[in-house]
Amino acid sequence: MKILVIATRNPGKKAEISDLLRDFPVAVKSLEDFGPIPDVIEDGATFEENAFKKASFTARVLGYPALSDDSGLVVAALGGAPGVHSARWAGPNATDADKCRYLLEKMEHETLRDAAFECVISIAVPSGAALTYEGRCEGIILREPAGSNGFGYDPVFYYSPLGKTFAQLSMAEKSAVSHRGKALHEIKEEFDNVMKWADRHMPEPPPIGCQNPQHVT
Ligand code: IMP
Repeated sequence: MKILVIATRNPGKKAEISDLLRDFPVAVKSLEDFGPIPDVIEDGATFEENAFKKASFTARVLGYPALSDDSGLVVAALGGAPGVHSARWAGPNATDADKCRYLLEKMEHETLRDAAFECVISIAVPSGAALTYEGRCEGIILREPAGSNGFGYDPVFYYSPLGKTFAQLSMAEKSAVSHRGKALHEIKEEFDNVMKWADRHMPEPPPIGCQNPQHVT
């Protein structure tokens, strides 16, 4: 069975992707299934750079095709912030509630409330070649949090077509419209071809060093 490593230690992320790929002949692993490997520093200027960096590093170190995602919130009135800094924008130890509060403070005097969640997924092979998938979901930043599902900025992200914040949606409802859900859906649609592509780009195994017995001295 072919192996695909999800470059994450987050069991929720692994479960979501395993579930999506359950009908395909692929064994989905995560970093937890291997010995310790160094963390990748996510210092890229774009989601794409960070996703590629994590996927290609993991593929090179482990020798299997690897998938990684990077995502965040892009707010128009803040010039695109927090963007690639979404996770640590409110400080290294900030809770999800802290992050939402910090965002609402920054936007206190803003009337333009448009925002989008963006997600880039990179699938890389050990040689460094990679495929890229993107998903985006537009919404409005509320003035107060609402809802308790999800994570991160979900309670302040209002998704107009459903009339709810992301934190008021079930996981299935959110996945059907979210940035990550869209990018993963695209991968699922063409997953057979993705695995063929990965196969073509995997290094040939070295020939077994078996000498011709006639020449053995
Ligand atoms: P990462 O891509 O898992 O590193 O996520 C980066 C950060 O963006 C997270 O820590 C969240 O703060 C934020 N983020 C990404 N996706 C979502 C989402 O679906 N809902 C809420 N916040 C998100």
